[in-house]
Amino acid sequence: MYEIHFLGACGTVTGSRYLLRVWNKNILIDCGLFQGDRETKQLNWKEFPFPPSKIHGVILTHAHIDHSGYLPRLHKLGFDGPVWCTPGTAALLQLMLPDAGELQEEEARFADKKGYSPYKPALPLFTESDARRVLKQAERVPFHVPREVVPGLTFTFHHAGHILGSSFLELRLKRKGGKHHTWVFSGDLGRPAHPILKPPASAPECDFLVLESTYGDRLHPKEDVHALLEEVIKRTGDRGGTVLIPAFAVDRTQELLVILADLFEAGRLPRSLPVYIDSPMALDALNFYKQFQAEYNDAFAARARKSPHPLALPNFHPVRNVEGSKALNTLREPAVILSASGMCNGGRVEHHLKFKLPDSRHTLLFVGFQARGTKGRRILDGEPQVEVHGQAIPVKAEVAVLPGLSAHADREELLEWATPQPAMPDVFLVHGEEPARAGLAALLRERLDWDSLTPRMGEIVRL
Ligand SMILES: [Zn+2]
Repeated sequence: MYEIHFLGACGTVTGSRYLLRVWNKNILIDCGLFQGDRETKQLNWKEFPFPPSKIHGVILTHAHIDHSGYLPRLHKLGFDGPVWCTPGTAALLQLMLPDAGELQEEEARFADKKGYSPYKPALPLFTESDARRVLKQAERVPFHVPREVVPGLTFTFHHAGHILGSSFLELRLKRKGGKHHTWVFSGDLGRPAHPILKPPASAPECDFLVLESTYGDRLHPKEDVHALLEEVIKRTGDRGGTVLIPAFAVDRTQELLVILADLFEAGRLPRSLPVYIDSPMALDALNFYKQFQAEYNDAFAARARKSPHPLALPNFHPVRNVEGSKALNTLREPAVILSASGMCNGGRVEHHLKFKLPDSRHTLLFVGFQARGTKGRRILDGEPQVEVHGQAIPVKAEVAVLPGLSAHADREELLEWATPQPAMPDVFLVHGEEPARAGLAALLRERLDWDSLTPRMGEIVRL
């Protein structure tokens, strides 16, 4: 007998953690942080339901913090085993985990200042040095190469096309009589047409499928992203303004650069238009996107062999230091600025908001989801002014949205990925808000006659 414990991302999209208990060994699949409002974040402080020192190893599907960000905490609580991940994931973790640690320390200082922590001084969940220590436990496992983690239990990473290094897992477990149980954990599944990365490989034949359902109730709009981006940049340029794009440092920034490169190379935008990449993390991630060419799809691989590399056009300007970032406040010519954070909550983009929002020549262009409670969402909802660094800033700039960019498969893409299967697997739907999860369950029933389970957080399934 063995067990799987659903420890997070059940009815929500954060805190992905699944514990497999087999032959007295404990393997954790993903080790995500709960993110969002204060109540959700509080879940990170709950006692881990199992002694971390008794976890044999962690298999990571990808580097996003909601899948990896609890690792430093787990380490702090005694976990010292291997963290198996793809080389691309290991690279991104070097950026993302220390950054998450810094953020935890910053939040603790803020809680102290505001006096809302029950502890004096307030404690961070983990620190930057905890994060740096757990990085040493990373064990790089290439795509497609099966790895035995304990005798009789083997896993393989397959391309998921979600961000650099992202994978879904195929896990094979030996049973009596030479039989196997095959589990597939989808992780976060990307879309078939990522401009840089290989598309998700098809799901292998499996007995059990743990499937994400982020967009289980939705279809992505089929917009012509290139045409929309071209229009907004031209319109803003005609006013002599700058297009400010808050973008996630990992993947969205690099994806946008390729779309921009398409427009420059096709002569749809003047090659003299400067594009500033003003985020140290986005620049570090960009280097990894340039380096890990084995993850490129065929079309992008062919382009990348030519010079200049599409992610390094001569008019793409990295902005590393703070002085360079400040200099962008007084730009006189039309330009594009890509800056993080993607939801305008923290990061250098906040400084740009102070200078660009009060001026109607400029455009603030949203290219990703804006969660409730974030500054980005308030601007998008049409608030006439927003507070930036304690200052009320009027919103006079144009506010525009570039729809159609998503790092997650929509409901049809999820369905297409999961099928065909020779027989109905046992399906567990995870990583989706309740309506999305219910939507996907209904779709699977209607189209495939598949039943699916929607595990509650903490639920244990025995097999
Ligand atoms: Zn993800």
